[in-house]
Amino acid sequence: MTTTDQEKGAVIVTGASRGIGAAIAQKLADDGYGVVVNYAADEAGAESVVSAIRGRGGRAIAVGADVAAPDAVAAMFERAQRELGPLAALVNNAGMVGEQARIDEQDAAKLARLMQVNVVGPMVCAGHAVRAMSTAHGGTGGSIVNIASVAARAVPGVEGVVPYEATKGAVVTFSRGLSNEVAPEGIRVNSVSPGAVDTEMAAETEGSSQFATSSPLGRVGRPDEIADAVSWLVSPAASYVTGSDITVSGGV
Ligand code: NAP
Repeated sequence: MTTTDQEKGAVIVTGASRGIGAAIAQKLADDGYGVVVNYAADEAGAESVVSAIRGRGGRAIAVGADVAAPDAVAAMFERAQRELGPLAALVNNAGMVGEQARIDEQDAAKLARLMQVNVVGPMVCAGHAVRAMSTAHGGTGGSIVNIASVAARAVPGVEGVVPYEATKGAVVTFSRGLSNEVAPEGIRVNSVSPGAVDTEMAAETEGSSQFATSSPLGRVGRPDEIADAVSWLVSPAASYVTGSDITVSGGV
């Protein structure tokens, strides 16, 4: 490990066992951060992301924690800093679509779980990140990037995802509000709103590929195209950027 790498510290990427999170973890490791590859269930997937990062000379550990489980999340933040150094950034990427159905066919318990994973979990993670990075808590500042979605704008085209759209609207508003709260403490907070991206989630979401092919660029996005935007937001190149939502959607 070089001195520069140590200075870059740790980054936690939630939901990084596959898809967009895996690409973000790989990119931030290439940028020199020590990366927590978080997962809820797919330990093998997370370990293979870690192996790929280490194979390229990067630093990474796989840490299991459901983002909706506060004790597991607390333990993840503690372990990240113990093993990889001071926290430099958090990427709240973990998310789920939930049940794809009209609102009059939705189940209350499943809706509550969707809110826990997509909204409350990222807020709890952000709380830990602020405690670790804020100059008001003795930290040196840092960056939080929340993965939202163009679904926050409830663009017509994908049916039965109104609750998911609402969770992503909450993520955008949370990012903007938190950016105001912690700007004086050295923390920048932004969101990235992807359009349809080629992952398991998109494959399982009915209507997603038609949505993508009707976009101005006429194709589905790649996970690395989202990772590049996150990498820039985390980096010093984005030092004057906070409270922004960057759309990476092929023009949707
Ligand atoms: P994905 O392929 O379904 O991957 C989801 C990842 O999140 C997996 O690593 C999964 O790991 C993890 N995860 C799920 N629930 C979790 C929980 N409770 N705690 C911790 N980790 C959890 O999804 P994706 O397409 O890469 O999506 C990533 C993010 O981008 C999500 O926030 C999604 O809403 C957003 N997004 C995706 C698209 C798209 O078209 N793909 C578009 C816009 C926005 P385990 O299997 O281990 O649980």
